[in-house]
Amino acid sequence: MITRFAPSPTGPLHLGHAYSAWLAHDTARKEGGTFLLRIEDIDRTRSRDAWEQQIYDDLSWLGITWDGTPMRQSDRVSVYEDALATLWKRGLVYPCSCSRKDIAAAANAPQEGSEPVFGPDGLVYPGTCRPNRPHPVGDMPEGIALRLDLTAALQHIGSGRLGFVENGETNGSQRRNVAVTSDDLISTVGDIVLSRKDFPGSYHLSVVLDDAAQNITHVIRGKDLFDATKIHVLLQRLLGLPTPLYLHHRLIRDETGRRLAKRDDARAIAQYRKVGATPDDLRTLVGL
Ligand code: GLU
Repeated sequence: MITRFAPSPTGPLHLGHAYSAWLAHDTARKEGGTFLLRIEDIDRTRSRDAWEQQIYDDLSWLGITWDGTPMRQSDRVSVYEDALATLWKRGLVYPCSCSRKDIAAAANAPQEGSEPVFGPDGLVYPGTCRPNRPHPVGDMPEGIALRLDLTAALQHIGSGRLGFVENGETNGSQRRNVAVTSDDLISTVGDIVLSRKDFPGSYHLSVVLDDAAQNITHVIRGKDLFDATKIHVLLQRLLGLPTPLYLHHRLIRDETGRRLAKRDDARAIAQYRKVGATPDDLRTLVGL
């Protein structure tokens, strides 16, 4: 088995990251597998070298060792561009100049029988910029966001079933097949962004290409990404990539039940280190 931990260097790692990294790392070590690290630094405005260094320091302090050199998404622009060009040539993506505000306004405009729906990326895109099919396929534009035309993409892949295998987190929990249907994708996911205005790629596109490039067999990550996996299996089918097994684990929450975020500096691993906690103390805190 080959698994990975894929943090973004946009802030300090917190207890939730420690749990996720340990789960993937310990599973790989127990099974004689491989544990890889990937730095997801496509957000060029928020990523910092100092946060990347802190990731290496924190993981080392936690006793986590990774195999090989970490992959960095900022080094993989040409791979993302090639995939986008393939989808563009097939007429499956289109440029979109909508701001968040435009999307909220269009999604909330009173229309009979349609309520705005929130998907993995926020409001399901109301389709404002979607061209009539077949899409014009001249040169792929740059410096503008590109969205997947979901309906065209579903037509392209035809009638084959989509889905993934979800592994239980706890001993004895059952593996289950999760079906992903066209109706579900259309109503809860919509035309997602595959390339950002400021970077030729998006989280969904790069994570799928990178998991394939790193030959990941088991994706171990938080439950907050469960719905995103529906998008990932669709992209894997479109791009001819294998679908790994998935394990979406419980989230570490604060005492009010809120899940931890980068802004929760009090639960940053670095803060615990500073006040003299040991890695074993943290293992106990996250229930390992
Ligand atoms: N980079 C993502 C994060 O820090 C994780 C992506 C993944 O594991 O697929 O939340």
